[in-house]
Amino acid sequence: MVETLRISSTRIKESRLASTDFSNIPFGKVFTDHMFMADYRAGEWKNLRIIPYGNMPTSPATPALHYGQSIFEGMKAYPSANGKEALVFRPLENWKRMNVSAERMCMPHIPEDLFMESLAALIDLDRGWIPTEEGSSLYIRPFMFSADEFIGIRPSLDFTFMIILSPVGPYYSTPVKVKIETHYTRAVEGGTGYAKAGGNYGGAIYPAKLAQDQGYHQLIWTDGKTHEYVEESGTMNLMFVIDNVLVTPGLSDSILAGITRKSVLELAQHWGMPVEERRISVIELVEALEQGRVQEAFGAGTAATIAHIELIGHEGKNYSLPPIDQRLFANKVLTELENIKRGKSPDPFEWIYRI
Ligand SMILES: *Cc1c(COP(=O)(O)O)cnc(C)c1O
Repeated sequence: MVETLRISSTRIKESRLASTDFSNIPFGKVFTDHMFMADYRAGEWKNLRIIPYGNMPTSPATPALHYGQSIFEGMKAYPSANGKEALVFRPLENWKRMNVSAERMCMPHIPEDLFMESLAALIDLDRGWIPTEEGSSLYIRPFMFSADEFIGIRPSLDFTFMIILSPVGPYYSTPVKVKIETHYTRAVEGGTGYAKAGGNYGGAIYPAKLAQDQGYHQLIWTDGKTHEYVEESGTMNLMFVIDNVLVTPGLSDSILAGITRKSVLELAQHWGMPVEERRISVIELVEALEQGRVQEAFGAGTAATIAHIELIGHEGKNYSLPPIDQRLFANKVLTELENIKRGKSPDPFEWIYRI
């Protein structure tokens, strides 16, 4: 970051803050007063601007709408204890991952200063929207899409990068029932599963809905080739404690490299817990479930941080897991991560970015 970028700013006339009920915010439906936008034209990011949040004109021919040329990120900001600062959890990791997604989808890189300074400027302007209610936070959604006016399929030339912010209430992570999916596929070797690319999520809604109709909350995805190895849980990374070892599927191009996953593994190692990142077969998992050796199972992701899994379904059979209050590791890591994110615990790994 050599020099400060020039970001123009147009303020909203009347803030919606006073008319927003923070004690009752539905997830993902309330947005702050402003948003950030930048245009990629002729090989350069231009026209960096903060403007009032609202609808925007888009060409009906934009490839983002037709071919899913769009990528996104998700992270959260929390209020500091004195309420004066916004604490953002590991935003540089999101910046790096956004560029991994961009590369895969044939989109331009976002320079570090563009990502970080636009984020800081927007959060600074809308900091009054960071909820202070217990358990609440400000969800940050950076995204980029092709903005060409062209319905041919080829690498696009024009792109739009945006950031919107959404205050979210406490995520009461009730334990989830999940089903091991052995027909539908989220991602496959050589595909786009490791990218946060729009189409991955659109395609996952239908199989997830089928599982919901059967009484499960979400799926455990298996590898797209053989369906013999577990990969992720819904839009979270998947973790188990089996025989006192923290086990999680190793990263591959069909698994999204979660920042929560990475943080959980780093904390576990720091605490001296044995950790294995490796392939986990459905057979191994079902056997361990039958023998009662799966002590804990959970999803790890920004939305819930840790989502305990209470039941795993496989081929019509349901396996119940130990009670949540016996999950020593998941509960400990959840508490510690929440405390670090909110500035209540020391931050030995320098994960927090203060605005
Ligand atoms: C975003 C995401 C995750 C979790 O990533 P975090 O950085 O921890 O929020 C896991 N799996 C998928 C498929 C995702 O899209």
